[in-house]
Amino acid sequence: MSSFAKALVFIFGVFFVVDANARLMCSLGVSPGQQYNPNYDQRPGQRASSELDTIYRALCPTGCGRYFLTSNHSTPNAMAQAIAPGESKIAYNPDFMNDIANRYGGGATFGILAHEFGHHIDFHSTPAWMNNSWSRELKADAWAGCALARVGGSTQQIENSLRAIAAYPAPTHPGWQQRHHAVRTGFTNCGGNWSSRFDFTERQPRISQPPPAYACQTGFGVCRLGQVLPAGASCSCPVFDAWGRLVRQDPGLAR
Ligand SMILES: [Zn+2]
Repeated sequence: MSSFAKALVFIFGVFFVVDANARLMCSLGVSPGQQYNPNYDQRPGQRASSELDTIYRALCPTGCGRYFLTSNHSTPNAMAQAIAPGESKIAYNPDFMNDIANRYGGGATFGILAHEFGHHIDFHSTPAWMNNSWSRELKADAWAGCALARVGGSTQQIENSLRAIAAYPAPTHPGWQQRHHAVRTGFTNCGGNWSSRFDFTERQPRISQPPPAYACQTGFGVCRLGQVLPAGASCSCPVFDAWGRLVRQDPGLAR
């Protein structure tokens, strides 16, 4: 076997083992029917790589485990997984990140990645200012605030980041009022100068909940769903033979 082939076996072998032990820490937003598939992992884009590198250096000047960043079209928005002790994988959907950049402007994707990286560092470090009664999501928000303060972007960039963070909570996130407090705590304790422009109150709801669906549409027709699913979720229609035996399940989408 060539050394190149050996290297490939090693790489894929490691990722296979790693993904089998992966534990989801955070998934921003709800995308019914969309499930992260590690087989579609791709090399991350330059903006995300450079932003996460900056976040790592700002929050972990002396190191804090390892992370893998991957771009993956199957990812619902952005997510963090614990893949091994001290190691995390941060996956993002490139369409989602481009949308964030277009919608909220320069620096906005930084906030999303800083929140995800906040889940990683949460296992390595507990600064004195961190409120230990906070949930994991609030702690990740506080770390995001800390990263924003340490990197020291413009007021506009920081506001863009905060608006993006506010718009995409994880399903278990508390309301923006609590999250705002956590972000601000991290920001001010990491040397940031809080601006009143960061005190917007409304959480912009960017998560559009799809309507409930009662039928499954496949390439061959429509069947009734056994349970109500969100529109667009994956479903399947059973196909039976003349003796009533299940022949196959045709995949489709709920509508
Ligand atoms: Zn989170």
